[in-house]
Amino acid sequence: MPTAKQFQCPFCAFNVTAMDEEEVVKHVRTHKQDHHPDASVSESDIRGMIKDVEVSRSGR
Ligand SMILES: [Zn+2]
Repeated sequence: MPTAKQFQCPFCAFNVTAMDEEEVVKHVRTHKQDHHPDASVSESDIRGMIKDVEVSRSGR
């Protein structure tokens, strides 16, 4: 089963899922700037909140 990286925003429950952790961090950083510019969340906090999730193949 392939795994992906998932992040859920603790402030608004926005979800980011990508195959690659760097990709997730990039989206989360943009999301934070747009929606929670005053939140004191560092990049290492973001990385600590990223989870591995299993992704099922489409087309079953
Ligand atoms: Zn958010």
